[in-house]
Amino acid sequence: MRCDEKSHSMTPQIKILRTVSQVRQWRLECLLKQQKVGFVPTMGALHKGHCSLATQSLKDNDKSIVSIFVNPSQFAPHEDLDAYPRTVDDDLRILDSLNADGKKIDALFLPKISEMYPNGITTEVSQQRGAFVSVKGCSEQLEGSIRPQFFRGVATVVTKLLNVVQPTNVYFGQKDAQQCVVIKNLVKDLLIDTNVVVLPTMREENGLAMSSRNAYLSQETKDRSSIIYKSLKRGEDYYSKAKGTVPSKDIIDVMNETLQHEDFEVEYLSISHPDTLEDLEAVEPGVGAIISTAVRVPRENSTEKTRLIDNIVLH
Ligand code: AMP
Repeated sequence: MRCDEKSHSMTPQIKILRTVSQVRQWRLECLLKQQKVGFVPTMGALHKGHCSLATQSLKDNDKSIVSIFVNPSQFAPHEDLDAYPRTVDDDLRILDSLNADGKKIDALFLPKISEMYPNGITTEVSQQRGAFVSVKGCSEQLEGSIRPQFFRGVATVVTKLLNVVQPTNVYFGQKDAQQCVVIKNLVKDLLIDTNVVVLPTMREENGLAMSSRNAYLSQETKDRSSIIYKSLKRGEDYYSKAKGTVPSKDIIDVMNETLQHEDFEVEYLSISHPDTLEDLEAVEPGVGAIISTAVRVPRENSTEKTRLIDNIVLH
């Protein structure tokens, strides 16, 4: 178990729902009782970041549901879909251990791929058939520039999940800053009746943002990777000490200086408008910015690298 809470029961009490129709039935029962429903979509391999979303959902709502679905359409053929950590038994125990204001997670949606993609799905975009959702304008830059099919996959699966669960509140982590912007625009543009709640990034003691993909890393590499957050903090310090408008280039220079202490491959280090994600020439107090980065760190005993993303918000 990776969350702090201890589980007291051996058999998880959470209802496991595997089909769309089971979730619809569950949702109907909540509706009939006029209960507020909170929803936390995840890909599993749960950690404290996921737990903080689920705990907030418990506090805000009468009933909470979590989904675990490793969504093929957001992975490119060369990415880690098969290797992505799958730890459902541990995840169930973690979810069952959560408790806030006397409430516990009521249901886990654990669909098969065929349930979410009735037409089937391949990671090859050119061979995909059926309906997909694109959120233009905020999906192409940053993560989208490196992973061109990523946000189309995310927006598609989140639309499907929101259609099924119809939550009062849906919870996302600031860790995936661009994803939050994409989802907010998706919900607004497609007139989806839900409230999007974004919660802060949970970090390891050394500052490294928690991520399911950290499971690929040794403790030594995780410690070395904490330099990513240190560099974001240096950028933030530089900006706050300036107490005025600061050219983005100056902030990026101080961050690069820190990152150079490790031989990591920096895919991007960008300063963007917090709402539109447009590149900013300068950061202005009042407007603020998101500084975001993606870094590829080497794995022990492997030629493969692990991509880590992180960001910090300037005000
Ligand atoms: P994932 O399972 O990686 O798809 O993440 C599911 C949700 O958890 C997304 O909304 C993520 O942004 C959020 N999340 C992942 N890592 C963290 C973290 N370190 N802190 C807060 N939220 C997180």
